[in-house]
Amino acid sequence: MHLIDIGANLTHSSFQHDIGQVLQRARAQGVDQLVITGASREGSPQALELARRHPGLYATAGVHPHHATEYDGETDALLRELVAAPEVRAVGETGLDYHRDLSPRATQQFAFEQQLQIALDCGKPLFLHQRDAHDDFMSILKPVRDKLAAVVVHCFTGTRAELFDYLDIDCHIGITGWICDERRGTHLREIVGNIPANRLMIETDSPYLLPRNVKPMPSHRRNEPMYLAHICEEVARDRREDTAVTAAATTATAKAFFGI
Ligand SMILES: [Zn+2]
Repeated sequence: MHLIDIGANLTHSSFQHDIGQVLQRARAQGVDQLVITGASREGSPQALELARRHPGLYATAGVHPHHATEYDGETDALLRELVAAPEVRAVGETGLDYHRDLSPRATQQFAFEQQLQIALDCGKPLFLHQRDAHDDFMSILKPVRDKLAAVVVHCFTGTRAELFDYLDIDCHIGITGWICDERRGTHLREIVGNIPANRLMIETDSPYLLPRNVKPMPSHRRNEPMYLAHICEEVARDRREDTAVTAAATTATAKAFFGI
């Protein structure tokens, strides 16, 4: 089995001491290509650094809505420089997050629009985040969708109606271990089968979102790319297909999306 984790926050400090072992464990589970999420002014150059240091790793470059207040002219220039690197395969993580509202909404919208412009200018795919902000997200994205390259709504946790809104404007969908969460992810089990195989990708969002039903449960509770194999199995079950089918399809879709 060969899997691609399209969203791993390996620049997170919890990976600093054992990144080599983390990647080795991932490879042992078939997870041999990863896209490291760049989510801040500090983290995006680090994601590129990691991608340059380890074979099979790629990066995105962006500023997450949580960090939108750091989006200024200098940040914009930095991101434009980063996205020119061949290892950087998408613009983002960007989007809107009204769930935690860590940055003012108007500031989030500004940073989102600026990064959409970068994607329009460089022609690379977009890696998007949306939580509790579907309507504003759609009204910013939809008018420019046709001029953009591929777009993924990563860590999709929304409703069936939201899912179809994204599929209607030809977005890809990233599914994480959220689907394993018996408290808040069960609705995803019913709708994941509606995602066409050529629009579905899987991701861990490590170190966040450790699937709540992995066995044995690691004592540190840190999510790692190796658990993508578990997420793939869960998604396959919900789609009523063999794990090998889901694995092959999500990998092919990720390869086409990121050009890897
Ligand atoms: Zn996210």
